[in-house]
Amino acid sequence: MNYKAVIGLEMHCELKSNSKVFSSAKNGYSEIPNEFVRPVDMAFPGSLPVVNKKCVKDALKMSLALNCTQPEYMYFDRKNYYYPDLPKGYQITQMESPVGINGKTIIELNGKEIPVYIHDIHLEEDAASLDHYYSTSCIDYNRAGVPLLELVTEPCLSSADEAVAFLEHMRSIYQFCDVSEGDTKKGQIRCDVNVSIMEEDDKEFGTRVEIKNVNSFGGVHDAIEYEIKRQSTLKREGRYNEVEQETRRWDEETQSTIHMRSKVDAVDYKYFVEPNIPKYKITKEWLEEIKKEIPELPLECKHKYMEKYGLSDYDASVIIKEKDYVDYYEECLSLGIDAKTGSNWLTTQILGEINHEEISLKDFYVTPKLLKQIVDATKEGTISSKQAKEIFLKSCTEKKEPKSYMSQENAQISDENELNQIVGSIMERSQTQIEQYKNGKTNLFDYFVGQVMKETRGKANPVLTKEIITKYLNS
Ligand code: ADP
Ligand code: MG
Repeated sequence: MNYKAVIGLEMHCELKSNSKVFSSAKNGYSEIPNEFVRPVDMAFPGSLPVVNKKCVKDALKMSLALNCTQPEYMYFDRKNYYYPDLPKGYQITQMESPVGINGKTIIELNGKEIPVYIHDIHLEEDAASLDHYYSTSCIDYNRAGVPLLELVTEPCLSSADEAVAFLEHMRSIYQFCDVSEGDTKKGQIRCDVNVSIMEEDDKEFGTRVEIKNVNSFGGVHDAIEYEIKRQSTLKREGRYNEVEQETRRWDEETQSTIHMRSKVDAVDYKYFVEPNIPKYKITKEWLEEIKKEIPELPLECKHKYMEKYGLSDYDASVIIKEKDYVDYYEECLSLGIDAKTGSNWLTTQILGEINHEEISLKDFYVTPKLLKQIVDATKEGTISSKQAKEIFLKSCTEKKEPKSYMSQENAQISDENELNQIVGSIMERSQTQIEQYKNGKTNLFDYFVGQVMKETRGKANPVLTKEIITKYLNS
């Protein structure tokens, strides 16, 4: 028997900003540990937090984009616990009055619309990072105090695919709203995944297991599948009591979840209002201003691409996955590249190449402007589509303009007079074949095309060649 899975996600995403959320230290990455640190990030006595207004604004922007309700006042809470990566002994977060509650967003999966309900979204600070070595561990405070937005969904997702589709959807929204790069490779997105199973007609949810700090979408997918299988097996074997409310972690190496602690010894965070940050009134006017800055969101963008430009659901979904893709595509359109042609290049050749080179599209050599050289030449018939692909690849690897590979010498022959002459001379010396053709051996057509290609070393425009041959044979 198959059980129904119930999944809820806690998604952490680092926000873009010049300085940290409660200090003036730089929010950035450095090879040098502890480079971006101010006294407050190290919890020096007497140091006080100051709220970064840009972070509050971006948090509210996300709250609005996700159709949440915003609070009247902005204030923070202390979440008290001890861990080496948390120098103050507490994290400044929001518990009582998050920037957003009761939100909803629609995701699309396999052509189906699925609503995902947001319990809340709140602004907090990231912890320092720990680097573990053979016999020591080091603390790097560069990450301490980096702005973090935590989004908690209701337990409304029902499969690993849905969970990943939601995360990808959210990542594009963060990027579209320009509040985060949403780069999982840089550890900017980390998730806690909650999974339980139940029978189809059960009235109550099953016991949930939490998998902490999964840092890739692939990891989220695999951890969910693993957990559903593990819990289902226990239930099937009549050992469901062994599924306990616990925190596990995803182990990449063994591709399994491993017990960390049970919720029985759950930490009591002793939340209270952070006294060092005054309450801040969120005015209607400010919210209105922020609302105006919310751009067209991924799903609207996808529908526009499908309806206005006739892209397939699949292609449009691929393009809206990353803001960089959309930017590239929009630039292609504004340069006058045909919508379908641009989408084909982007979703196949270009994405294939940047994955292969392991670079981001922003750093890709063949910009829309350069791509246009190839697209135009193909349209004019100076190069064949096969040549276009070859020139594209050469241009990527040798970092030279596509134009430079389109010399007279390897240009496609599309001149009708020139082709007429070539076909004419071939026909003159192929009287036997022409006769056979006229007597019904029509597959000899390919023979004539072959002769032309041989003569022109493959450069004859194939469409035109076939037209001219047909004319000759019918005359
Ligand atoms: P905690 O503070 O222990 O993390 P929360 O009440 O904040 O607990 O819930 C965290 C997450 O667990 C939410 O995303 C929620 O959707 C999810 N969740 C709650 N109950 C279940 C359940 N029975 N199965 C799966 N997920 C659940
Ligand atoms: Mg939790």
